[in-house]
Amino acid sequence: MKIELLNSEETEQFGASLLQALPQKCLLFLYGDLGAGKTTLVRGLLMAAGHVGTVKSPTYSLVEEYRLVDRSVFHFDLYRLKDPEELEWMGMQDYLQQSALCCVEWPQMGNGYLPAADVELHLSHQTDGRMIEINVLANSLKNTLVFNWKNKDLLL
Ligand code: ADP
Ligand code: MG
Repeated sequence: MKIELLNSEETEQFGASLLQALPQKCLLFLYGDLGAGKTTLVRGLLMAAGHVGTVKSPTYSLVEEYRLVDRSVFHFDLYRLKDPEELEWMGMQDYLQQSALCCVEWPQMGNGYLPAADVELHLSHQTDGRMIEINVLANSLKNTLVFNWKNKDLLL
Protein backbone atom coordinates (compact mmCIF):
# COMPACT_ATOMS: atom_id res chain seq x y z
CA MET A 1 0.00 0.00 0.00
CA LYS A 2 1.44 3.34 -1.06
CA ILE A 3 -0.06 6.81 -0.98
CA GLU A 4 0.89 10.42 -1.43
CA LEU A 5 0.54 12.85 1.44
CA LEU A 6 0.36 16.29 -0.11
CA ASN A 7 1.06 18.41 2.97
CA SER A 8 1.71 18.06 6.69
CA GLU A 9 -2.03 18.16 7.47
CA GLU A 10 -2.46 15.01 5.37
CA THR A 11 0.42 13.39 7.23
CA GLU A 12 -1.26 14.19 10.56
CA GLN A 13 -4.58 12.96 9.21
CA PHE A 14 -3.01 9.70 8.17
CA GLY A 15 -1.59 9.28 11.68
CA ALA A 16 -5.06 9.91 13.10
CA SER A 17 -6.75 7.30 10.92
CA LEU A 18 -3.96 4.83 11.65
CA LEU A 19 -4.64 5.21 15.36
CA GLN A 20 -8.24 4.10 14.85
CA ALA A 21 -7.05 0.99 13.06
CA LEU A 22 -4.34 -0.18 15.45
CA PRO A 23 -4.91 -2.39 18.50
CA GLN A 24 -4.02 -1.29 22.04
CA LYS A 25 -0.78 -3.21 21.96
CA CYS A 26 1.13 -2.64 18.78
CA LEU A 27 4.64 -2.04 17.53
CA LEU A 28 4.87 0.56 14.76
CA PHE A 29 8.13 1.31 12.93
CA LEU A 30 8.59 4.61 11.07
CA TYR A 31 11.38 4.70 8.50
CA GLY A 32 12.45 7.74 6.49
CA ASP A 33 15.12 10.40 6.23
CA LEU A 34 15.35 13.44 8.46
CA GLY A 35 12.37 15.66 7.70
CA ALA A 36 10.38 12.88 6.02
CA GLY A 37 7.41 13.48 8.32
CA LYS A 38 7.70 10.71 10.94
CA THR A 39 7.17 12.97 13.94
CA THR A 40 4.37 14.80 12.11
CA LEU A 41 2.56 11.49 11.62
CA VAL A 42 2.97 10.55 15.29
CA ARG A 43 1.72 14.02 16.26
CA GLY A 44 -1.50 13.40 14.31
CA LEU A 45 -1.84 10.01 15.91
CA LEU A 46 -1.34 11.41 19.42
CA MET A 47 -3.81 14.24 18.92
CA ALA A 48 -6.39 11.72 17.70
CA ALA A 49 -5.71 9.71 20.86
CA GLY A 50 -6.64 12.76 22.94
CA HIS A 51 -3.26 14.32 23.61
CA VAL A 52 -3.43 18.07 24.03
CA GLY A 53 -0.33 20.22 23.69
CA THR A 54 2.94 19.89 21.92
CA VAL A 55 4.51 16.67 20.73
CA LYS A 56 8.22 17.05 21.01
CA SER A 57 10.61 14.89 19.11
CA PRO A 58 12.25 12.42 21.51
CA THR A 59 15.57 12.81 19.71
CA TYR A 60 17.52 13.40 22.91
CA SER A 61 15.30 11.74 25.49
CA LEU A 62 14.88 8.65 23.21
CA VAL A 63 11.34 8.17 24.50
CA GLU A 64 8.29 10.25 25.40
CA GLU A 65 5.45 8.57 27.26
CA TYR A 66 1.81 9.53 26.75
CA ARG A 67 -0.80 8.05 29.10
CA LEU A 68 -4.06 8.94 27.40
CA VAL A 69 -7.67 8.17 28.21
CA ASP A 70 -8.02 5.00 26.17
CA ARG A 71 -4.45 3.96 25.63
CA SER A 72 -0.78 4.50 26.27
CA VAL A 73 1.48 5.63 23.48
CA PHE A 74 5.27 5.49 23.69
CA HIS A 75 7.08 7.56 21.11
CA PHE A 76 10.71 6.61 20.43
CA ASP A 77 13.32 8.28 18.28
CA LEU A 78 16.46 6.14 18.07
CA TYR A 79 18.39 8.47 15.76
CA ARG A 80 20.99 9.24 18.40
CA LEU A 81 21.34 5.71 19.69
CA LYS A 82 24.99 4.69 19.61
CA ASP A 83 24.54 1.02 20.38
CA PRO A 84 21.41 -1.17 20.38
CA GLU A 85 22.47 -2.21 23.90
CA GLU A 86 21.42 1.23 25.11
CA LEU A 87 17.87 0.01 24.59
CA GLU A 88 18.40 -2.53 27.34
CA TRP A 89 19.60 0.14 29.76
CA MET A 90 16.60 2.33 29.02
CA GLY A 91 14.23 -0.56 29.78
CA MET A 92 12.98 -1.12 26.25
CA GLN A 93 11.68 -4.59 27.11
CA ASP A 94 9.38 -3.09 29.75
CA TYR A 95 7.96 -0.64 27.23
CA LEU A 96 7.42 -3.38 24.66
CA GLN A 97 5.67 -5.68 27.12
CA GLN A 98 3.12 -3.10 28.18
CA SER A 99 -0.26 -2.87 26.55
CA ALA A 100 0.71 0.19 24.58
CA LEU A 101 1.22 1.50 21.09
CA CYS A 102 4.98 1.87 20.56
CA CYS A 103 5.89 4.20 17.68
CA VAL A 104 9.58 3.95 16.79
CA GLU A 105 11.41 6.44 14.55
CA TRP A 106 14.75 5.16 13.20
CA PRO A 107 14.06 1.53 14.19
CA GLN A 108 17.09 0.40 12.16
CA MET A 109 19.27 1.84 14.95
CA GLY A 110 17.88 -0.86 17.23
CA ASN A 111 18.60 -3.65 14.77
CA GLY A 112 19.15 -6.98 16.46
CA TYR A 113 17.49 -5.82 19.64
CA LEU A 114 13.99 -4.80 18.60
CA PRO A 115 11.48 -7.51 17.67
CA ALA A 116 9.72 -7.43 14.29
CA ALA A 117 7.16 -4.67 13.92
CA ASP A 118 3.43 -5.24 13.49
CA VAL A 119 3.25 -2.40 10.97
CA GLU A 120 6.07 -0.65 9.12
CA LEU A 121 5.77 2.78 7.53
CA HIS A 122 8.29 4.12 5.01
CA LEU A 123 8.13 7.87 4.40
CA SER A 124 10.00 9.57 1.58
CA HIS A 125 10.29 13.05 0.10
CA GLN A 126 8.49 13.90 -3.11
CA THR A 127 8.82 17.08 -5.15
CA ASP A 128 5.76 18.28 -3.25
CA GLY A 129 4.71 16.43 -0.19
CA ARG A 130 5.63 12.91 0.84
CA MET A 131 5.06 9.32 -0.16
CA ILE A 132 4.15 6.74 2.44
CA GLU A 133 4.34 3.00 2.08
CA ILE A 134 2.53 0.82 4.57
CA ASN A 135 3.59 -2.74 5.26
CA VAL A 136 1.41 -4.76 7.57
CA LEU A 137 3.50 -7.60 8.99
CA ALA A 138 1.29 -8.91 11.79
CA ASN A 139 -0.98 -11.65 10.45
CA SER A 140 -3.67 -10.62 12.89
CA LEU A 141 -3.81 -7.19 11.25
CA LYS A 142 -3.48 -8.18 7.62
CA ASN A 143 -7.20 -8.54 7.07
CA THR A 144 -8.31 -5.77 9.37
CA LEU A 145 -6.21 -2.93 8.03
CA VAL A 146 -8.02 -2.04 4.85
CA PHE A 147 -6.96 1.00 2.98
CA ASN A 148 -9.54 3.32 1.47
CA TRP A 149 -7.75 4.90 -1.47
CA LYS A 150 -10.36 7.48 -2.27
CA ASN A 151 -10.50 8.96 1.21
CA LYS A 152 -6.82 8.37 2.00
CA ASP A 153 -8.13 6.62 5.03
CA LEU A 154 -7.53 3.42 6.88
CA LEU A 155 -10.63 1.50 7.80
CA LEU A 156 -11.29 -1.32 10.20
P1 ADP B 1 10.97 13.54 10.77
O1 ADP B 1 10.40 13.22 12.12
O2 ADP B 1 10.76 12.42 9.77
O3 ADP B 1 12.42 13.96 10.82
P2 ADP B 1 9.13 15.79 10.80
O4 ADP B 1 7.85 15.12 11.10
O5 ADP B 1 9.81 16.52 11.89
O6 ADP B 1 10.18 14.77 10.13
O7 ADP B 1 8.76 16.74 9.56
C1 ADP B 1 9.65 17.62 8.92
C2 ADP B 1 8.87 18.64 8.16
O8 ADP B 1 8.11 18.07 7.10
C3 ADP B 1 7.89 19.43 9.00
O9 ADP B 1 8.10 20.79 8.75
C4 ADP B 1 6.53 18.98 8.50
O10 ADP B 1 5.57 19.98 8.60
C5 ADP B 1 6.82 18.63 7.06
N1 ADP B 1 5.88 17.66 6.48
C6 ADP B 1 5.34 16.56 7.05
N2 ADP B 1 4.54 15.89 6.20
C7 ADP B 1 4.56 16.59 5.03
C8 ADP B 1 3.93 16.39 3.75
N3 ADP B 1 3.13 15.34 3.52
N4 ADP B 1 4.19 17.30 2.79
C9 ADP B 1 5.02 18.36 3.02
N5 ADP B 1 5.64 18.59 4.20
C10 ADP B 1 5.41 17.72 5.21
MG1 MG C 1 11.33 12.93 13.93
